[in-house]
Amino acid sequence: MAKKNSTANKLDWEYAPSLEGTDHIQLKEKYDLYIGGKFVKPSSGKYFATTNPATGEKLADVAYGDESDVDKAVKAARKAYTEVWSKLSGKERGKYIYRIARIMQERARELAVIETLDAGKVIRESRDVDVPLACNHFFYYAGWADKLEYAFPNRKIESLGVAGQIIPWNFPILMAAWKIAPALAAGNTVVLKPAETTPLTALKLAEIFHDAGLPPGVVNIVTGYGDTGAAIVNHADVDKIAFTGSTGVGKIIQKAIAGTNKKATLELGGKSANIIMDDAPIDQAVEGIINGIFFNQGHVCCAGSRLFVQENVADEVIKKLKRRMDTLIVGNPLDKNTDVGAINSKEQLATIQKYIKLGISEGATMHQSRAKIPANGYYCAPTIFTDVAQSSTIVQEEIFGPVLTIQTFRTVDEVIQKANNTPFGLAAGVWSDKGSRVFNLTSKLKAGVVWANTYNKFDPTSPFGGYKESGYGREGGLHGLGAYVKLK
Ligand code: NAP
Ligand code: MG
Repeated sequence: MAKKNSTANKLDWEYAPSLEGTDHIQLKEKYDLYIGGKFVKPSSGKYFATTNPATGEKLADVAYGDESDVDKAVKAARKAYTEVWSKLSGKERGKYIYRIARIMQERARELAVIETLDAGKVIRESRDVDVPLACNHFFYYAGWADKLEYAFPNRKIESLGVAGQIIPWNFPILMAAWKIAPALAAGNTVVLKPAETTPLTALKLAEIFHDAGLPPGVVNIVTGYGDTGAAIVNHADVDKIAFTGSTGVGKIIQKAIAGTNKKATLELGGKSANIIMDDAPIDQAVEGIINGIFFNQGHVCCAGSRLFVQENVADEVIKKLKRRMDTLIVGNPLDKNTDVGAINSKEQLATIQKYIKLGISEGATMHQSRAKIPANGYYCAPTIFTDVAQSSTIVQEEIFGPVLTIQTFRTVDEVIQKANNTPFGLAAGVWSDKGSRVFNLTSKLKAGVVWANTYNKFDPTSPFGGYKESGYGREGGLHGLGAYVKLK
């Protein structure tokens, strides 16, 4: 590490690059659909490219699965359900799921690097958060597979059948694990569609399922676009839809399955409040704000994208926040020093930039970090807006990028009212030294998860999900298992 200029601001450190190697990973040039335990060509013969958003370079071609491919996948899943998976004991199912978890652990480094390449997320997060948590979901639910009667005592438990699962691009392998692990533990089979821009780790998982000897058809991976997802939703022989994505698509899905027998869990958008009381440990809270919104480039459904600071500490918090923002390193996601990686796609970068312009035109005051931004690839500097109103578009709508709005408040009642005043209700954070204040706030905030003196912490044992337009149903923990069984 060398200091760039000893007379300059103390924060001007330049770190030597510390790149994670990519020699150990193997990517095929072309990926087919994984149906019935085999990689098969798409009926249309069409493929699309998945790229590395940090460079814009193509990583691989991936099959486009259409309605007829989805039909084949659902048929394979139904056959596997009827003939094999629903007949296995919980103990036997558990053995397969443990085996999957162990192979994922063995291949953790490879999975983390591929996730970083395909999604643009920083290696520190894919290596230390996404992949270990994904493994832990498989371990956790493997443990329930032979204990369902203890999970739901005195009830008759039945699996649902074929689960159609559709996931977004912000946590590709973790979202796949959240959905596949409880479905298999409860005795269901799966057809999963990853997002168009991040299909590679799901396809690597297909290889792992294969290596684990999972019976053919128990999990099928169909890559493609939105219409591939719609074909899963509309397929008559799918018993459950598990969707994570935008509120807009969630509403389309809800309409599509209305009047059918399909069960559903919808994990949708958010505009979560991070609340700093005047007795909070300010330095820790500033770290919490940074983690809440700049972690994973703000591509987090539960990102703490609205900051509420008690008026008498607002100047101090904002000053410290700006100072800390300036130390964040934006750049190559494969570099272990990078704090903020690449925006997932050109389209998402354009959306974020549109909101930043809108914020300025609405009269808010913008501050962006001084971080150097790479010339190629899709990047956005950490951005904060002060002088925003409760009615500002950037306060009300989900931006899904490293953009934070800051409002102040005087009383607890005022902040509860402001924090709850959005169509969403996914998560919230409260920072205070006083337990009674924390409990008062956490019980009145309309959010599925409320963190106290921390932010963005996840664990396979704890349920996650939203209120209002952030969706319904819970994933994780026992609640997440409950979403894959019929109780009689
Ligand atoms: P999205 O556009 O809704 O896409 C999500 C998934 O649905 C993708 O696989 C997408 O395929 C597919 N899809 C698109 N149109 C569809 C349709 N009509 N029917 C069925 N499937 C369809 O969301 P996104 O932009 O990828 O993800 C960001 C959103 O996810 C944000 O709003 C974020 O808050 C939310 N999210 C929520 C949670 C949570 O737990 N609540 C977690 C993570 C993310 P293509 O990729 O091919 O378009
Ligand atoms: Mg990609």
